[in-house]
Amino acid sequence: MIDTLTNTSLHCKHFLQTGIAILPAPAPQPGPVTMFNQLFIDNAFVPGASGQRFEAVDPATEQVLTTLPLAQAADVDGAVRSAHAAFPAWRRTTPAERTRLLMKAAALIDARRDEIAHLETLDMGKPLRESLANVARSVRTFEYAAGATDKVEGQSIPVDARTLNFTRLEPVGVTAHITPWNYPFANACRSVPVALAMGCTAVVKPASDTSLTTLLLGDILREAGFPPGVLNVVTGSGSVAGSALARHPLVRAITFTGSVATGQRIAQYAAEHVRPVVLELGGKNPLVVCADADLELALAETLRGAFMNAGQVCTGISRVLVERRVHDRFVEALKARVDALTVAPGLADADLGPLVSRSHRETVAGYVEVARAEGARLVSGGCVPAGMDRGWFYRPTLFDRVDPAMRIAQEEVFGPLLVILPWDDDAQALAIANDSPFGLTAGIFTRDLDRALRFVRDVEAGMAWVNQWFQSPVQVPHGGVKTSGIGREQGMAAFANYLQTKDIAIRLA
Ligand code: NAP
Repeated sequence: MIDTLTNTSLHCKHFLQTGIAILPAPAPQPGPVTMFNQLFIDNAFVPGASGQRFEAVDPATEQVLTTLPLAQAADVDGAVRSAHAAFPAWRRTTPAERTRLLMKAAALIDARRDEIAHLETLDMGKPLRESLANVARSVRTFEYAAGATDKVEGQSIPVDARTLNFTRLEPVGVTAHITPWNYPFANACRSVPVALAMGCTAVVKPASDTSLTTLLLGDILREAGFPPGVLNVVTGSGSVAGSALARHPLVRAITFTGSVATGQRIAQYAAEHVRPVVLELGGKNPLVVCADADLELALAETLRGAFMNAGQVCTGISRVLVERRVHDRFVEALKARVDALTVAPGLADADLGPLVSRSHRETVAGYVEVARAEGARLVSGGCVPAGMDRGWFYRPTLFDRVDPAMRIAQEEVFGPLLVILPWDDDAQALAIANDSPFGLTAGIFTRDLDRALRFVRDVEAGMAWVNQWFQSPVQVPHGGVKTSGIGREQGMAAFANYLQTKDIAIRLA
């Protein structure tokens, strides 16, 4: 069991003065949730070879939900060999067969959405409505992938009169999918159906903080009728199970979502056997607010972009760059909105749930101290909500008077912490936006089309949005530049991650 938090210095002392609401206890929820708490290999739930287990903990209550196998290299080897054995038959299924199975899985995910969302919220902490939205998105990814199975077309290439030359796009084989804790179900569903649609098999290693719904995905694909070995799930630590998976010689492609530091290791592992790798990494995403913008809209989108999933979103807003002419007005209005946000267990469906773990909350709180020490001005939050001693809650936090060189303006916090930076002209705004090792998302709010177009052309980001935030439906490419990653998931571009080109030349008699 994990002890109750004792560090009272983290706590908000004047919550009544700042108007922070303490919500009532969560309402009773639908019936018991099944905890799949074994490895999923060959369409069966099996214990890990070593017998060692680790705890899955509810971040809202600190209660242990269940324990899970701490997979070792031998377990990972079993999962990869299962996927390897399943590959020859799976690649020879017809596109129509794969489409039908993927559509069946989509329908089952939809039918079991309450169960999945409930488990996701218990395990990860996010508000229930966000978990439901993540499940709905996962249904869409399965449907999108299902529609692509018969659109994998090669080329006929003119070479000379005696030769017929054409290409085939073939599935690469066993694929590894290593996912983070912030969107456990949706991240597994972002890449797995795409790989399966292309005729590949898959092994997933979910984050150890949030493994439960990925195991549930295994149960759903089994129920849908996917053959044994097409999807396998191994739980356990990144350093043991994750690295054993990424370094396994039978794995032919790796899709990784997580931090830059781990992504760098994964790229090294991929190089050991010369395999392609997709890296979806972090961000320090800037939103530029111009004085001519619809400020009400900008405020609403800032709130959503910065504090959805308690700010634990790679594509979320972490820096808001406000034109100095409207800076004070914007900060005052934003403060009022941030102060009014509610924090409660995910099942109570407040604005923010808890952070994913005690250690992550300590990281976020550490950045608050860094910001104070650097001379930034705390505008809102910066503490644990008063009275919330159990669970890993943290107030949404706003810092003003931030300099672009400060650590708080440069490093990814990955929590409910937003910094505000003023600027005077467009060139300066762009320079601040690009002054980052990251390049995942960026946005601008303005009524001036030229201004917007110049910004989206010049900003260093994989995704750039105008007068809105979070515009990344499953059919558009998702990924970053600079240290935010390599490659793209989602959209048509993602199918190439799981295909290799074979050129065939036939001599004509
Ligand atoms: P992380 O610590 O890098 O972990 C990600 C995954 O890698 C987990 O499953 C982890 O397992 C595993 N792992 C850790 N060390 C490993 C190793 N040596 N070999 C193989 N696997 C290893 O990242 P996180 O803290 O879970 O996630 C937060 C980060 O993800 C943030 O930087 C965020 O921006 C990024 N993210 C990016 C996107 C995107 O689409 N660009 C989306 C979501 C999140 P354990 O959990 O067992 O350590």
